[in-house]
Amino acid sequence: KSTVDILGINFLSTTNHEFIEQLKKDSLHHQNRFVVTANPEIVLAARKDKEYQKTIKQADYVIADGIGIIIGGSILKTPLPERVTGYDTLISLLNFANKYSKKIFLVGAKPEVISQVQVNIKNDFPNIKIVGAYDGYFKDDHHITSAIASSQPDFVFAALGFPKQEYFIAKNKNLAPAIWMGVGGSFDVLAG
Ligand code: UDP
Repeated sequence: KSTVDILGINFLSTTNHEFIEQLKKDSLHHQNRFVVTANPEIVLAARKDKEYQKTIKQADYVIADGIGIIIGGSILKTPLPERVTGYDTLISLLNFANKYSKKIFLVGAKPEVISQVQVNIKNDFPNIKIVGAYDGYFKDDHHITSAIASSQPDFVFAALGFPKQEYFIAKNKNLAPAIWMGVGGSFDVLAG
């Protein structure tokens, strides 16, 4: 895979289309993948916090979710093809999951938001199997991680904000061979 270093983070050099094709292929082959959708705030946070930087370095794909990253790449003479947002990627993956009746696991956002997200996904993507849905305000994640281990989802979408979602994924990604992606505030948008 081809990457570009912008301020210490290796971004995947990809278009939206290529990236979705890659994730579909990975999913159909039951690969385990950790996806970070990084905006400038995440890049700066990783520069300040070595533990967070180490966590992001464990990702299989870091995508440029923010025009600031694209502009930064051009200024540093290491341009990236285009912005690839977490939200658009999530929607494309939900379409794919619907087509292949895949299992998804949702964790994050407020209780009322996660309930509405489930309703909206059931309406718009009727073939998707939602095998777990938990709000993101837990003290202890054992009930969530044991549910992931027993349900073996194809996709785990974590909308816990950064850095919480990346720490959650890095700690738990070996529980199931899935596409694990931090999706920030996307559940709030999906619920709207
Ligand atoms: N969130 C959560 N648990 C937390 C903190 C945040 O589930 O402990 C959720 C929040 O409800 C929102 C999402 O994480 O749905 C993104 O939060 P925010 O907009 O603060 O983060 P960002 O999009 O900047 O990563």
